[in-house]
Amino acid sequence: MYAITLKPGREKSLLRKHPWIFSGAIASAPTCLPGEIVNVFSADGQWLARAAWSPESQIAGRVWSFNYNEQIDANFFQRRLDNAFALRAEFLEQPENACRLVNAESDLLPGLIIDRYSNFLVCQFLSMGVEAHRNTIIHALQYLLPHFSIYDRSDVDVRAKEGLENRTGVLAGQVPPDLIEIDENNCRFFVDIKQGHKTGFYLDQRDNRALLASMCEGGEVLNLFSYTGGFGIAAAVGHAASVTNVDSSASALDLAAQHITLNNIASRNVNNIRADAFVFLRECRDSGRQFDVIVLDPPKFAESQSQLERAARGYKDINLLALKLLNPGGLLFTFSCSGLMHSDLFQKIVADAALDAGRDAQIIMRMSQAQDHPTLLSFPEGFYLKGLVCQVL
Ligand code: SAH
Repeated sequence: MYAITLKPGREKSLLRKHPWIFSGAIASAPTCLPGEIVNVFSADGQWLARAAWSPESQIAGRVWSFNYNEQIDANFFQRRLDNAFALRAEFLEQPENACRLVNAESDLLPGLIIDRYSNFLVCQFLSMGVEAHRNTIIHALQYLLPHFSIYDRSDVDVRAKEGLENRTGVLAGQVPPDLIEIDENNCRFFVDIKQGHKTGFYLDQRDNRALLASMCEGGEVLNLFSYTGGFGIAAAVGHAASVTNVDSSASALDLAAQHITLNNIASRNVNNIRADAFVFLRECRDSGRQFDVIVLDPPKFAESQSQLERAARGYKDINLLALKLLNPGGLLFTFSCSGLMHSDLFQKIVADAALDAGRDAQIIMRMSQAQDHPTLLSFPEGFYLKGLVCQVL
């Protein structure tokens, strides 16, 4: 088998079971094809791990196993998938449900995302390693979950960093219908797995939508960056007095409109507005419009360290405006899904926003990604979604 030897001292993160090998840590590289399995050795010859080789990426290796006796074969993939499914057994027992079944590095399958929507599995192959073993993974899925169809949504920018092209299409079973109906908490949603964002739905916010539903009865709710209305529908089902969903995407709002009928909430005063959230907030400020609850769930503002400062300004801007628009006692549900934006920095930005908005507010709850998006302790990068519920005094 091929081998990587690390530079002196660069074995430390692997000894702590962090699964990434950066290209700068490598003293001698293998001559094999991308995606091949390589043994990883420290500078003094100690065997450390078995990894997938990805020469074009800055993450040149991703560890399959830290166990010398574990072979990377069909059984290996079946075992890892089976373990991930076992942790989500409750989601697999309910026929109409949706959840993340495999969360990449945090489920010990670096680069592999599998989301389940009803009887469809939607996969993203994000690294050279999982790309090379794609057929083995598909066969294992067909064996473990025989009644599911499998669809590929590997149209994600990070693939370019691995030297991979984007790809979508049927991998096994049926062609997906244009919309798949799913069930979340007490709501129903349509998911477009072929064209929607990511694999079709923001499953990571499931618990936070339930929390909002439990805290907004009788309130006027503004849901910014609404996508297909997830938080807004949850709020309406939770008996909010009114809901305003705002998003820049027409197709997302088209589904948000369909969700009103689907959930029988036509009488609940739900409005869908196509607008830039930054502009909409300023219009509300200028017209003196106030709300009882505001949800801010923007897209990733920081894709790299160099964008962090600009991202911080963006977060501060929307949080400042939102805090100004809240009635006394009002609630701000504010999120950042940028992994590079750490919780303490995010909290400081929201604190600065409150200061500049002239509002005193308390954090009454902290939120994170749902339990089917676990974070492996040795891979803190897996924690990306953080949120605060702040109450204005
Ligand atoms: N809260 C949603 C997910 C939000 S994803 C849910 O629970 O499903 C972020 C959304 O922000 C996307 O739908 C995207 O279309 C939208 N968006 C991005 N930039 C925007 C902007 N400047 N103004 C309004 N919406 C924007």
